Amino acid sequence: MRTAIYPGSFDPLTNGHLDVIQRATKLFNRVVVAVAKSDSKQPLFTLEERLKLVQKAVRHMPNVETDAFDGLLVKYAARRSATAVVRGLRAVSDFEFEFQLALMNRKLDERVETIFMMPKDTYTFLSSRIVKEIARLGGDVSAFVPAHVQAALKEKFAVTPA
Ligand code: ADP
Repeated sequence: MRTAIYPGSFDPLTNGHLDVIQRATKLFNRVVVAVAKSDSKQPLFTLEERLKLVQKAVRHMPNVETDAFDGLLVKYAARRSATAVVRGLRAVSDFEFEFQLALMNRKLDERVETIFMMPKDTYTFLSSRIVKEIARLGGDVSAFVPAHVQAALKEKFAVTPA
């Protein structure tokens, strides 16, 4: 039984994240998508909202679980009996940070391997940050996120009448 953790802020989940999840399910018996509290990043969506958006997107995938976590990733991975951490690599710009993170996690617990997955090329430009910016400005994000995430973004940025 091989379990991988796919950690992230998922603020909110995008089709790029889903692409990575789908790829990871081909390599592992169980993939736990772990939504990090990420308070320091001042997320747009609350932890509960982010978790719900992920849950709805993966509910048709039998070997995918969802969870929320806070604190050290390697400790969480050990608690979930995971042998690997999955991260997505979009471009060279992701590399430096991800490399540092992976090596630091290895220092903290050398039993956990980090696996990098490349998304479909059409998703390499996609990030939660850009999706939020487009949605905030009233742009169409339907090609980048599942429909329920699009609806949640619309609601977040709805102008409340005075
Ligand atoms: P974090 O705050 O941990 O960076 P994110 O939700 O932004 O959380 O990303 C989680 C992981 O998913 C990271 O490894 C990130 O590089 C990866 N990721 C984000 N967007 C994409 C995408 N479009 N394609 C592939 N990987 C992605």
